[in-house]
Amino acid sequence: MPTSYQAPMRKDQAKSRSQSQSSETNLNSELATVADVLGRKGGDVFSISPDETLHHAVEILRDKHIGALMVTDGAGALCGILSERDIVRKLADTPGQTLPQRVGDVMTTEVVTCAPSDPLVSVLKQMTQGRFRHMPVVENASLLGMVTIGDVIGFRLNELEHEALQLKQLIVG
Ligand code: AMP
Repeated sequence: MPTSYQAPMRKDQAKSRSQSQSSETNLNSELATVADVLGRKGGDVFSISPDETLHHAVEILRDKHIGALMVTDGAGALCGILSERDIVRKLADTPGQTLPQRVGDVMTTEVVTCAPSDPLVSVLKQMTQGRFRHMPVVENASLLGMVTIGDVIGFRLNELEHEALQLKQLIVG
């Protein structure tokens, strides 16, 4: 009978599709790397010297529409990171006296960095555990750019949309 014959077929197909799709989905998210994100957003490196003032830093943050700056020494080496969070904290601690202060006195000096080959999943974990939203990308002591938690989540959302579309096409045929 057609009905009793078709039902197991649909079930079998659905099972095999969902298995192959789910392993593909896992593979995609595991394989996506920092380099994929940088490839999409570009490798702009916005940096400032530790001897500059916070006033100059907030001007750059405003003009570039970003939330953090990499702090680099005269040789271009990364020596800290300064985020809007650090500036807000300083504004509360030293009201009316914050903007003339040195970037080097306010920045975070223990910077967690990532490499272009790092999987996005591990970058996201580090950001969540460390409670920060920015990660400089470094390779062979060169600064290649910055990834933010927004970049990583945006990239993953895009992948999920793409995967959902692939699933729909598989189902619809
Ligand atoms: P954020 O959430 O990125 O604005 O930063 C929150 C705090 O973490 C600030 O004190 C930053 O200086 C610091 N921070 C931001 N990114 C990093 C990083 N990659 N490594 C270490 N500290 C960071």
